Amino acid sequence: MKKIKINKDFLFDGERGFEFINKKYNSDNYLRDINLIRELIIHCSATDSISFENPINLIKYDINSNHISRKGCPFATYHFYINKAGEIFQLIGINYYTWHCKGHNQYSLAICINHSGKYNNVTPQQYKSLIDTIIYVFSILNWETDKETLESKLHFHREFANKLCPGKIDKELLIKEILNYEKK
Ligand SMILES: [Zn+2]
Repeated sequence: MKKIKINKDFLFDGERGFEFINKKYNSDNYLRDINLIRELIIHCSATDSISFENPINLIKYDINSNHISRKGCPFATYHFYINKAGEIFQLIGINYYTWHCKGHNQYSLAICINHSGKYNNVTPQQYKSLIDTIIYVFSILNWETDKETLESKLHFHREFANKLCPGKIDKELLIKEILNYEKK
């Protein structure tokens, strides 16, 4: 497995990071068996905000009041977050599910990139880190990174919702690049 650097300074995993959760909810209600995870869904932040380069601002937005619920979400909406500089943050332990894709939450993991989706401005560092994070997730879940498994387990939010999410990236090309990358 290729080594990647994951920043865990903002991680809530049931042992640490209680300052990053919404106290209106009981976090234990969102625990799950990780064997239930069967898909990985990619999102964008729907903003090009420079303040979102620091994940604390994404977390604050999600747990205070966001577009999903006025009470806010229980935690950050995504397990992994990649800013424009290409830094990879893990925000939630994978044994917790989050509210990121209606009907899929309990069975999926979420990766988000800081990207509005309006312009072709996913940075090369961000794209590379996205590939690294996808490969990392596949490896921790013991999923093969062959074409068939990638096509069945890797999804874009827009496949399930009438949204552009995750913006200006092409899934077929992304899968091709993951396959090439794995050969190196
Ligand atoms: Zn999304």
